[in-house]
Amino acid sequence: MSAPTAPRSSQTSTPVRDPEASRALFERAVAVTPGGVNSPVRAFNAVGGTPRFIASAQGAWLTDVDGHEYVDLICSWGPMLLGHAHPEVQAAVQAAVARGTSYGTPTTPEVELAEEIVARTPVERVRFTSSGTEATMSAIRLARGFTGRDVVIKFAGCYHGHVDALLASAGSGLATLAVPGTPGVPESATGLTVVLPYNDRAAVEAAFAEHGDRVACLITEAAAGNMGVVPPEPGFNAFLSEICRRHGALFVTDEVMTGFRATRQGYWGIDGAVEGWTPDLVTFGKVMGGGFPAAAFGGRADVMGRLAPEGPVYQAGTLSGNPIATTAGLTTLRLADDEVYAHIDAAATTIKAAVSEALSAEGVAHTVQSAGTMFSVFLTDGPVRDFADASRTDTAAYAAFFHAMLERNVYLPPSAYEAWFLSSAHDDRAISTVLDALPAAARAAAAAGGAA
Ligand SMILES: *Cc1c(COP(=O)(O)O)cnc(C)c1O
Repeated sequence: MSAPTAPRSSQTSTPVRDPEASRALFERAVAVTPGGVNSPVRAFNAVGGTPRFIASAQGAWLTDVDGHEYVDLICSWGPMLLGHAHPEVQAAVQAAVARGTSYGTPTTPEVELAEEIVARTPVERVRFTSSGTEATMSAIRLARGFTGRDVVIKFAGCYHGHVDALLASAGSGLATLAVPGTPGVPESATGLTVVLPYNDRAAVEAAFAEHGDRVACLITEAAAGNMGVVPPEPGFNAFLSEICRRHGALFVTDEVMTGFRATRQGYWGIDGAVEGWTPDLVTFGKVMGGGFPAAAFGGRADVMGRLAPEGPVYQAGTLSGNPIATTAGLTTLRLADDEVYAHIDAAATTIKAAVSEALSAEGVAHTVQSAGTMFSVFLTDGPVRDFADASRTDTAAYAAFFHAMLERNVYLPPSAYEAWFLSSAHDDRAISTVLDALPAAARAAAAAGGAA
């Protein structure tokens, strides 16, 4: 399904004027909701200005409440692999809604979606949740329950949802037990979390040397995407898999972002499937929900068999495996064939080259990094290997770049540390809108101080 979902009538988008209606809604939102948003990444705090309130979306395009159209390079932060309002996904969801929306009993689409996930990925069994946060939280509980150990190792700059134990701050150095990264998380919740620099084998070896027989699991994004895209260095995930095995700890890859997005098998399709290793547990979300709240964790049959009601580790959810969400996810995954990934890959290749050319022309220091079809643009010299490198990105230059793109009908992530997402609906018109906007945005970035 790589064809655009609907032909566009107009050839040029409405010029972006003052977003009056968005501003009025934002004022109302701020009065009743902290920061006016229901997830912090949606706010414009990092770039300034007013977040656009989106009234509708079709294919690669968002339309805001002022009637402005934008090429969407957020794609709901990953889920919309086929673009917005895909006709077949919509039809399947509408048919499912007509049959009722939640029963609190097992249903057919849960089984079919689980089978689809098992067929594509290294997991043998899977359990659904409603969010990626719940999936990682549950995977950690299961790893602790299975091993009878408590310590969890994670990497600075890897985001695993807002799980207390995983919101530990960066910068704590080699194998130091972490301090909480946010008020509201007690030290007792992160006191068993070890935070290490990403892509640093020596740090991992030192942590296992110190805590080895206490480590329940090591959790890592299969390829880091939440500090911008920072792929694991070749062999890094294989090394993690091996050192976990050696110490009797479980290796947990978080594919909430990369799953069914980086490739049809997730990031594992790039390394594990080729190199011949499998993670013990994997978490999924985003694409597998087809734009609805659905996520999952899965893995080795013997580990998953420890979950209630088969085993003693408790985990549950009133809306887990919801029939509408699993129908949307199943329909999305069934449509996500090789052609879809090839289309997104080609679109990403075109945009990456054009961004780099535009920034180079203005002398703006930058690095473009990829993980399968995902990519991001750091406004700093590369390579970016870890969170410390990513933190050097020029956020003022990015803010200027972001607003210049927005004015030219392109909605980028309002943060310098995020991946840019494309879909199979990003057709020539959408891509050329992005390409046309780039030279002026690069000039704005240079003027804001991004020139090397
Ligand atoms: C988005 C994300 C999560 C959290 O998922 P939610 O559905 O937002 O709770 C966890 N891990 C990774 C890698 C993610 O990108």
